[in-house]
Amino acid sequence: MRKKVIAGNWKMNKLLNEAEGFITDVKTQVPSYDQVESVVVAPFTHLHTLVQKAAGSDVKIGAQNMHFEESGAFTGEVSPEMLKDIGVDYVVLGHSERRELFAETDESVNKKTHAAFKHSLVPIVCVGETDEQRENNQANEIVEEQVKRALTGLTEEQVKQVILAYEPIWAIGTGKTATAEDANAMCAHIRSVVKEFASEAAAESIRIQYGGSVKPANVEELLAQSDIDGALVGGASLEANSFLALVEAG
Ligand code: PGA
Repeated sequence: MRKKVIAGNWKMNKLLNEAEGFITDVKTQVPSYDQVESVVVAPFTHLHTLVQKAAGSDVKIGAQNMHFEESGAFTGEVSPEMLKDIGVDYVVLGHSERRELFAETDESVNKKTHAAFKHSLVPIVCVGETDEQRENNQANEIVEEQVKRALTGLTEEQVKQVILAYEPIWAIGTGKTATAEDANAMCAHIRSVVKEFASEAAAESIRIQYGGSVKPANVEELLAQSDIDGALVGGASLEANSFLALVEAG
């Protein structure tokens, strides 16, 4: 049985006091970490405070990006070691907004995934096709390529620990969710790619989230699918009550 992982991606939202209030509101109410992984993925400026605020609870904290280099002349960047140093546990890599707006590539996502393992951060690696690619029947192929490139060079053990987030770009922030069947079909496809690329054991262990307009009203149906092991949630993760409803469904 794969443990579900529900991650709330706040993107560039919330001031620090709002973020702290959120953790106070949810930290005693989330399910135990042994049952469900509840992750708050916050802006860099909030991470240190939120890790301390969530200490001893079942809420874990994640970053939305990082650089793959260890240190040095990379103005404006944050290193994996800096995240680990302040107690961050997860890092989202290759979100479609970063690929589209900040020139993130499959190659940099791969380097960042390796860097995450080097510093014991759990990578949540995002993949997904555009509307146009889906219309042209290229979705499977595009996602397959992104998955293989992200996982290149990892050991089997590392592949097992990666979390993949399938986020069709046309479903992000649009209110358009993939149907549970379509989302599951792609997650099953991704699992078969991992099987071929790494091993059957890796494919059985790796967790695959769905993301794109997930909300309390549709999360249960999505999580009930055979190959969906969690959700990466933007808009509906911003309110404490909504976040709690999502993690409780996990
Ligand atoms: P959304 O965002 O839930 O607001 O669609 C998902 C994401 O971008 O991770």
